[in-house]
Amino acid sequence: MKNKEWIIIGAGAAGLCAAINLARAGRQVTLLEQNSRVGKKILVSGNGKCNIDNRHIDPSRFHSQNPDFVRQVLKGYDFPVVERFFFSSGLPLVEGKEGKMFPMSLQASSVTELLEYEAKRAGVEIVCDCTVTSVDKEGDTFRLETTQGTKNAAQLILTSGSPAAPQLGGSNSGYAFATKLGHTLVPRHPALVQLCSEESWVKGCAGVKVAGIAKLYANGEYITEKKGDILFTNYGISGLAILDLSREVSIRLANFDYCELSLDLMPELSKEKLTNLLLDRVQKESEKPIGLWLHGILNKKLIAIIIEQSKSRVKLEKELNRKEINKLVHAIKNLKLSINDTRGFKGAEVATGGVNTAEIDPQTMASKITPGLYFAGEILDVDGDRGGFNFHWAWVTGMRVSR
Ligand SMILES: Cc1cc2nc3c(=O)[nH]c(=O)nc-3n(C[C@H](O)[C@H](O)[C@H](O)COP(=O)(O)OP(=O)(O)OC[C@H]3O[C@@H](n4cnc5c(N)ncnc54)[C@H](O)[C@@H]3O)c2cc1C
Repeated sequence: MKNKEWIIIGAGAAGLCAAINLARAGRQVTLLEQNSRVGKKILVSGNGKCNIDNRHIDPSRFHSQNPDFVRQVLKGYDFPVVERFFFSSGLPLVEGKEGKMFPMSLQASSVTELLEYEAKRAGVEIVCDCTVTSVDKEGDTFRLETTQGTKNAAQLILTSGSPAAPQLGGSNSGYAFATKLGHTLVPRHPALVQLCSEESWVKGCAGVKVAGIAKLYANGEYITEKKGDILFTNYGISGLAILDLSREVSIRLANFDYCELSLDLMPELSKEKLTNLLLDRVQKESEKPIGLWLHGILNKKLIAIIIEQSKSRVKLEKELNRKEINKLVHAIKNLKLSINDTRGFKGAEVATGGVNTAEIDPQTMASKITPGLYFAGEILDVDGDRGGFNFHWAWVTGMRVSR
């Protein structure tokens, strides 16, 4: 059996980028993909528009146990490098909010189709419906068992991603191959994921969306906060602010910490302004129940829970005084919700953790343990913020391998 020069396992963002660059440099490359088509996660990303990168690349937007590795990989590999790569592949980019970059077509399918075309044009052999089931190294040769027979390679790149979104090809298999070849793993947890709560009131608020601030407390200690959409659901809570917090929650839940969110439902109004607004609208003679009195200020579905959490015993508008208003304001700006789980890898966009980057050369992504082995993309212990940072990591690590 002939040794293929390079075999890449996984035709996602990192695998496609590495394959194109290696083939353009004259290497013989075979790209193996278990799905029936390449780039399934690219296809669904950015709600079908593909948030392909972010103009404001900075190491602080990436998370790893080894931040120095991230800094070294990103050095010289910021957004313009990726922009040039896409331009050379026929994909000019346009900018959205907060530096988010998209293909000019605003169609994720144009990204996968052009990358696939470029790979084939450069000479990459793409084999879909080909699941790699085991990897071994015999002498200088990697021996792969696949659902399409045995394949040999002199060089092997693992770009098989993480277990996030198994419905799109997310899998643990790359970790198994990496450990078989001598690598260690940093614990993996779902990130950019919705959160679950067992508190019964949440279901009753399902569908309510507010622009708020979510603060995370673990074992009573303030950890961090994020601003943005907060969406109550049947299972708990979602929305952009929640996805942004979820990485911290996921890690802390795995550590058996008690996690609670404190939600500010009206961040645009300071405590003082909200108090004055509420005080101003109290009519001294009104027999209106306070639930009804709060209509017009808060979404109806949230009112009962705000009254309950405020511990106010007042029933009618005319009974409201400064002290009772203070309690309501506190509840509106500090609505408590305990979190008992995440929606798991099935709901996650990415995974934290992965292959230990201390064992990898940040210049070439080569294994320091097994000669001829390389890594790129989300399989590594690096995950990025929402906004195109995860794709940036996949593109630039794919490029580093092919330097
Ligand atoms: C719903 C969703 C939306 C997202 N939106 C964005 C976004 O807008 N912007 C952003 O930056 N990031 C986004 N992400 C994250 C981004 O998609 C990933 O970080 C990125 O795709 C990782 O690229 P990768 O090449 O490392 O892995 P993947 O894209 O996961 O590719 C790995 C490939 O390996 C294949 N594979 C795995 N095991 C095997 C095996 N044993 N044999 C053969 N093939 C195998 C898989 O089928 C898969 O195709 C999103 C993720 C999801 C799930």
